[in-house]
Amino acid sequence: MVSSSVLGFPRIGANREIKKAVEAYWAGKITADELTKAAADVKKASWEAVKAQAVDLIPSGEFSLYDHVLDHSAAFNVIPKRYVGLGLSPLDVYFAMGRGRQTDGVDVPACEMKKWFDSNYHFVVPEFSEETEFKLNYNKALNEFKEAKAAGITTRPVILGPISFLVLGKNAKTAQPGFRPISLLPKLIPIYKQLLSELKAEGVESVQIDEPILVLDSTVALEKEYTAAYAELAPISPKIVLTTYFARLDSNVNFVAKLPIFGLHIDLDRAPSQLEGVLAAVKNTNIVISLGVVSGRNIWKTDFVAAIKLGQAAIDALGADRVIIATSSSLLHTPVTLASEKKLTEQQKDWFSFATEKAREVAVIAAALSGSQDAQIAAALEANRASIAARREFEKNSDDTVRKRVASITPEMLERKSPFPVRKEIQAKHLNLPKFPTTTIGSFPQTKEIRQARAKLGKGELTQEQYEEFIKKEIETVVRFQEKIGLDLLVHGEPERNDMVQYFGELLHGFVFTQNAWVQSYGSRYVRPPIIVSDVSRPGAMTVKWSSYAQNLTDRPMKGMLTGPVTILNWSFPRADIPREFQSKQLALALRDEVVDLEKAGIHAIQVDEPAIREGLPLRRADWDAYLKWAVDSFKLATAGVTDQLQTHSHFCYSDFDDIFPSIQRLDADVISIEASKSDMKLLNTFRHYGYSNQIGPGVYDIHSPRVPGGQEIKDRVRDMLTILPESLLFINPDCGLKTRGWKETEASLINLVEAAKWARQTY
Ligand code: GLN
Ligand code: ZN
Repeated sequence: MVSSSVLGFPRIGANREIKKAVEAYWAGKITADELTKAAADVKKASWEAVKAQAVDLIPSGEFSLYDHVLDHSAAFNVIPKRYVGLGLSPLDVYFAMGRGRQTDGVDVPACEMKKWFDSNYHFVVPEFSEETEFKLNYNKALNEFKEAKAAGITTRPVILGPISFLVLGKNAKTAQPGFRPISLLPKLIPIYKQLLSELKAEGVESVQIDEPILVLDSTVALEKEYTAAYAELAPISPKIVLTTYFARLDSNVNFVAKLPIFGLHIDLDRAPSQLEGVLAAVKNTNIVISLGVVSGRNIWKTDFVAAIKLGQAAIDALGADRVIIATSSSLLHTPVTLASEKKLTEQQKDWFSFATEKAREVAVIAAALSGSQDAQIAAALEANRASIAARREFEKNSDDTVRKRVASITPEMLERKSPFPVRKEIQAKHLNLPKFPTTTIGSFPQTKEIRQARAKLGKGELTQEQYEEFIKKEIETVVRFQEKIGLDLLVHGEPERNDMVQYFGELLHGFVFTQNAWVQSYGSRYVRPPIIVSDVSRPGAMTVKWSSYAQNLTDRPMKGMLTGPVTILNWSFPRADIPREFQSKQLALALRDEVVDLEKAGIHAIQVDEPAIREGLPLRRADWDAYLKWAVDSFKLATAGVTDQLQTHSHFCYSDFDDIFPSIQRLDADVISIEASKSDMKLLNTFRHYGYSNQIGPGVYDIHSPRVPGGQEIKDRVRDMLTILPESLLFINPDCGLKTRGWKETEASLINLVEAAKWARQTY
């Protein structure tokens, strides 16, 4: 018999109960007990939802009030000293680590957050040092197993594996130079032994141990650690299903197949081609193989025929008893249920499958592979066949104009007419910017009034005209403010945008929006990514109206503002039937038209933001070049259709460029702005090291905090920058957009920024 399993379920609750409860607790509106109760209800509802789909292996222990890695750190006592002894309850220590705390004389910043592999989920980074003293503060896996059992549901506990836990962490400030977290493994193993033997004593049959780092190139060096750790854990543990996801095991499978594990989970959504190699590697062992055929990362229905084919290949090699059908990863990255969507058409609904529906998919595929004669299964298979066929039929409705345009992209379309040095001269004359030009990254404070106006428009309390009048006033305020304080290259402030991706998605053809499809980004922050369902095109200009309105208000040059193709793609659910590359190029062509229209409308500089270009990097380095090729080409395609006198800008929030530097140069933006205020000069040294030739605006202050940088502080920053970068290339700007800031600090900070630029002009 083939069994079915789900690796993890969304935490938010069908009606955002957890988000609301957690935020209410932070606001002091509910007690810890009430929060615990809300969590218990959502956990129970999730277990029941998965069970109701007839899934055999139901996950527990992966629920979290904030982040599962943070849960693990808190349970294993990996709590940095700065959070200890503050007189906080364990729950408040936990939240303080996640989001910082500033109350009653306590003032601690949050721990660092990092992206969870190549997803848009962020985890709280554990901090390790020689002094780390592991201890099991509580056994979350055991507690939640018991909680489910009390509700009549047998689950398979999920825990983060010891090696991934250490490798995903970083050195605490107190760590000695050269310290490596992995060196703590011998101290950590006894705690895992305690945890796992408690599970075994409770009668837990099998446990899902997540070791996602096994899909990374660097893990090849950890064979010894894996071998030692699992040799110790296996004998005292419930049966271990070692779980990998998001990419392929590659050669790591050679040592993984030798571990004393019961099962191995692989991601066949992201890396279907690994099946053959993995089957060959485990064939002569007793290892059960868990096939991640139902995507945990997208929202498309699984093609059962294709999934069954993969399952059958595994059965042929190993026998049905050694095969589990599973979601590719935790369903954390998908919304809870399609049942909450009231505005999608029946046709659209028929394409998608959210977490609850995906749970049903694994059960049906497993049953089909087990040869089930059940009428319900037969009906589900038939329904899926019909849905997939309907979707394929729809996919045939390609937009031929768009397809033809993508097919006829020429290398010339990617290049500006003249090389940067020539453009720089022309633009200097045309824009007439002073030395060390000052600018901002685009958005100005998204005030309560702006959000209210948008809500009123949605409810019909404002007409479109009234709303647009309101937006125009906002733009005028922003323009006058910039003129008053003396910024050089102005922006319109983006008041018309709800979100930098959604705004464009709503104006383009090819996107679908949901009402309730929330996906966790970090902590209590959830996003609702748009879904790309068909070929993307631009029915009409998207930003020209606003940018030209803004330009007409002033004699100073106005910078147009767009979100780049790769970022729109990465922050949406892409379609599954054509490669991401094509979707990116379609977006790029739509943006290219917008860029050209902006120039025609009298805009002299245009910024195309690509903050997500880096996060889209594949996990395996062997795949980087192919991705960077089309990602950079897409940006160039979007921006190169203009004359030499138009100054193109791009913006990136991250500051880690070392390993992709040639691609940043290849973008050939006239100016790039980057988040730099928090990094030391290492980042700029990277630019110097590689001889970056175009203009750069390294952020001179951090916009993530309300703190106002002093004038001297910004001057010091500029002076430091000028020890590294040529004078002729430097722009002066903040780290990122100002939408999350209030006006008061924005005003004070930008005045200091302009003053620093004036000082620099006199001094250099
Ligand atoms: N132009 C955008 C803004 O200023 C850029 C946002 C971003 O980089 N994430 O808000
Ligand atoms: Zn940014």
